[in-house]
Amino acid sequence: MITGSPYHPYRFFLVVLLGVFLSATSACRPASVYDVDHDGRSNEGMHDPGKGRTVVVWMSIDGMRHDYLGRVDTPNFDRLIREGAHTLELDPGFPSLTFPAHTTQATGVKVEKHGVPSNSFYDSERNRHYRFAGFPDLLQAEPIWTTAVRQGVRTAVYDWIKSYNQQQPHAADYFGEGYSGGTTDRERMELILDTWRNDDAKEPLRLIMGYSVTPDKAGHEYGPDAPETDGAVAEMDKLYGWFVEQIIESFESRMSSEDELYLIISTDHGMSPVHHLAHIDRISGVEGRDDVITVTSGNIGHIFLNLVESDEERTRLESEILASLGSYDFARAGRRNELPERWGYNHPTRVGDIVVTLDTGFTFSRRVDADVEPVELHGGPLGMHGYDPETNPDMLGPAIFWRYPEPLGGVYLGRIHSLQLHPTVARILGIEPAEGVTHEPVELENSPPDEPSPQQLR
Ligand SMILES: [Zn+2]
Repeated sequence: MITGSPYHPYRFFLVVLLGVFLSATSACRPASVYDVDHDGRSNEGMHDPGKGRTVVVWMSIDGMRHDYLGRVDTPNFDRLIREGAHTLELDPGFPSLTFPAHTTQATGVKVEKHGVPSNSFYDSERNRHYRFAGFPDLLQAEPIWTTAVRQGVRTAVYDWIKSYNQQQPHAADYFGEGYSGGTTDRERMELILDTWRNDDAKEPLRLIMGYSVTPDKAGHEYGPDAPETDGAVAEMDKLYGWFVEQIIESFESRMSSEDELYLIISTDHGMSPVHHLAHIDRISGVEGRDDVITVTSGNIGHIFLNLVESDEERTRLESEILASLGSYDFARAGRRNELPERWGYNHPTRVGDIVVTLDTGFTFSRRVDADVEPVELHGGPLGMHGYDPETNPDMLGPAIFWRYPEPLGGVYLGRIHSLQLHPTVARILGIEPAEGVTHEPVELENSPPDEPSPQQLR
């Protein structure tokens, strides 16, 4: 259970590293085809030698709120929506933060299984902090790029969270070395396209993953409802119009007329306006204690008590912290094992003994001079995410599935969960999802009954 109280601080970091890629080769078996079996998640019987192969290009646009496409003139996204299948109700799961949300999408499991609870986190077993760490050795579940390579699908993945510097068995054929905030979204796409064009292995690349960051940056800096954020969405529309032309060209030059190209464009979360910043150490009453570790990302705070000397002191402190947090009506706090089960957030070493979430409009920051202050005093961030999508629909975003050359026909998919993306990609590629994946793929060709049509679209 989470007790009422208020909240927040947040420091938004943009880690800037130069994106470089390495290549490796992997043995490939003949590609299988998409099994149009809508009855179950199994891909058994997917082999149909009469049909062609599938290529999936999966792009994540960071921080695209569900209403952005409806309020900005986006002719290129509109075309993909008209010809494809889409939703404006993609649920990122909890928390709606960039690192956990991307990891949930890639692995098809929740935080308690994949082990990435936050953008930055602390591991109490290792007594170690991980700040915006992009490396896959922190993953405790298998991402789709590994699932694919393990089953013979050649893969390139650039700038997807936790895809850098792959050392594990079944490493992707191409991956980056680290995130570069100085790289533009257009340059990220050019790297993908160059890789695809220059790849001359006998088996073609069939899973290609990439990332765009512009709308998220604008949403944090100017707020989700600002004209600058509309401008970022319009910029994405132009860029993706160009990108679609380029991927069709690459697809046609590498693949045969029997083959199919799927483009998936999804987001990791939406964005809410911010009006206050809160300091976690002050609202939890632990400022100055060096045996208490606090970690925050967005509106989510973790308080670790593993360094506290005695069990007795830990119990006493825990009650004090909960009481302190309970006095703020914008913060909600609970012990790790009391968190809502649907969050799937009970990770034994990377989630705090106490988890604090701040209500919409509040976010954590260590820059504030008091316990909580108006954001105007600090110049931002004016937008934030991390909030529970069940209680804050601003966290929902769009997902577009587009197929070439045969269109999907303008299906509206209704609400879908990020946990469904891994099994959906697996099904399109004709492979088994990773072990532990429980959600069903999205039914791209069947509109669910009684779903409202998307009213926001132009
Ligand atoms: Zn994000």
